[in-house]
Amino acid sequence: MKILVINCGSSSLKYMLLDMKKQAPMSSGVVERIGEDVGIITHKDLRDGERKFREDHPIPDHDVALRLAVDHLTHPEHGAVAGVHEIDAVGHRVVQGGETFKAPAVIDKAVTEAIRANIPLAPLHNPANLTGIEVALELFPKCPQVAVFDTEFHQTMPPRAYIYALPYRLYEELRVRRYGFHGTSHRYVARTAAKLLGKPLEKTKLITVHLGNGSSIAAVDGGRCVDTSMGLTPLAGLMMGTRCGDVDPAVFTFLADNKGMSIKEIDELLNKQSGLKGICGMNDMRDIHEARAHGDEKAQLAFEMFAYRVKKYIGAYLAVLGGADAVVFTAGIGENDDFVREAACSGLEQLGIIIDQTANQGRKTEACPVHRPESPVQVWVVPTDEELEIALASRAALS
Ligand code: AMP
Repeated sequence: MKILVINCGSSSLKYMLLDMKKQAPMSSGVVERIGEDVGIITHKDLRDGERKFREDHPIPDHDVALRLAVDHLTHPEHGAVAGVHEIDAVGHRVVQGGETFKAPAVIDKAVTEAIRANIPLAPLHNPANLTGIEVALELFPKCPQVAVFDTEFHQTMPPRAYIYALPYRLYEELRVRRYGFHGTSHRYVARTAAKLLGKPLEKTKLITVHLGNGSSIAAVDGGRCVDTSMGLTPLAGLMMGTRCGDVDPAVFTFLADNKGMSIKEIDELLNKQSGLKGICGMNDMRDIHEARAHGDEKAQLAFEMFAYRVKKYIGAYLAVLGGADAVVFTAGIGENDDFVREAACSGLEQLGIIIDQTANQGRKTEACPVHRPESPVQVWVVPTDEELEIALASRAALS
């Protein structure tokens, strides 16, 4: 079985074709700057090592973008399939499923309408995801298609975790609540970690820590998410590359009153000018380490704040779960950054987390434990694979 995974953004389209027998990618690609003067498509044939192809020319819309991707996927020389008829299913990443979607959904008219109805909760993302779906339905009319939502994994949270302490009618009227994101990643690493621990997922308590440019953490009890750090939008919780994470919501009023900023300007500030970048001007943790090695105090502060926030949430989720079998780090920073893992776990020995400094050293490209043998709570790095998870979820939805 071959599944094409599509992740459609407002001006980009990422895709990956997976061979489900091997659970491995055959090709992948990204189309960027859709609608701009010059667009870029970068396609990789991954069947035997990696062969890369790049084209630069105007790509006016997502329809053209997906057609270009299909041209590469079916190319007589480097195409992984002879024609679209060889693609068995398409899995779409959709950011916001609201309360409508608690599992992946096989796409039909009712599903696209429900995704549309959730646009107010994700005005930037869901319209782009829908465009991807509509274009793919036209290009692959005979192929079953599945929507896999960033939010669905977190739909198992109890109301005490997802209801905000706002007037309850706002939840009733507008569904203002915590949703949580990165669900495919949390689900994938939770399931993988349980296998590595040799325990049934249903009997495992895990804290999954997704640290990338966007970061979130989840408390997972028996495979079900019981709390997560992101909220109504992906702005809440941990400190991120450019997003502030948790701040006093009164910051809005304060900045409006004292700097005359509009809601739009403050929203932009909190989403794009804050986090690591807001503190030290850099949003890539590699640059931050380089700068702090040269004595940059702001870079040092940004690093400490980032790790401290992760540590606070780990402590909170140990309380939520009543202890854990393992803490699982994943994504760009979680997999690659031993400084962050060590700083986030240091001082948690009394809570049962004892990291092994030697085992923790360096980047991890494969799943591995990084705790000391006597550590009651295990600590693992598990590389995430969101495309594979979307493909697996799509296959499961169709079977
Ligand atoms: P992601 O959003 O999961 O792709 O993660 C991207 C982030 O991971 C980058 O912004 C970097 O901060 C971080 N990152 C990637 N590689 C490394 C590395 N070798 N060491 C530290 N951080 C890294």
